[in-house]
Amino acid sequence: MKDEISRRSFLKASSASIVGGVGLTAASGSAAAHYVGLPVYTTTGLSVRNGPGTGYGRKAVAEQYTGGYIIDGPTNADGYTWWKVQYNGDGNNGRVTGWSAEGDNWLAHADFGYPCVGQVTQEHKSGHLALDIANDTGTNVYAARGGTVAVTDYESGGCGYYIKIDHANGYRTMYCHLSDILVSEGQSVNFGDHIGEMGSTGNSTGPHVHFTVEQNGAHQYVPGDLYDEIDNHAGLAKNYSGIGSL
Ligand SMILES: [Zn+2]
Repeated sequence: MKDEISRRSFLKASSASIVGGVGLTAASGSAAAHYVGLPVYTTTGLSVRNGPGTGYGRKAVAEQYTGGYIIDGPTNADGYTWWKVQYNGDGNNGRVTGWSAEGDNWLAHADFGYPCVGQVTQEHKSGHLALDIANDTGTNVYAARGGTVAVTDYESGGCGYYIKIDHANGYRTMYCHLSDILVSEGQSVNFGDHIGEMGSTGNSTGPHVHFTVEQNGAHQYVPGDLYDEIDNHAGLAKNYSGIGSL
């Protein structure tokens, strides 16, 4: 399924005169109220317009499972509720910002957010059960979700300086190769809290964060295509089951 998603068509406008997508499937869960700052992802191909209404031009179509976060709204127009969203983009086209219709949960709440700004330099795949996001040394690293800091440590041949955070329902996130750690074990953190600085410590060839999501010790898929531009507030485009509100 994942392989069918082509980021190359991210900014190509669809010829279909629709607000949402063809054959869309409503996401599971409730369409609880969105709000500014909420990490979201698209459950269908979704038009990104220059303004809040069907009369505004379409500047892009965010593909299904594109992560983003809400920066303005809501505005009601043309029978839809509209939100301004900063979407992740691919490395060729960059990020895109515009208005999308909420629809039937076309913009779903994300369970986790990406931990930093940067570019995906290694996808989650066999042999690499993590997402690598690269940027400059010292780039802020944020908690992907609220929780409790479980581990802060140093591993010379592997993760370098790293942080592990425990979340509800047996979930744990890990942030590796940091240049600095700003939290301590046992500390409670909220989604988006500044927890460390990007670096290249341990087994690393350049500054990046090696980011993992586990549940009860089992690695979970971390979405993100090679060369995607990630914004730190953007939602991970995946529903992890059993997760409550952020
Ligand atoms: Zn990695």
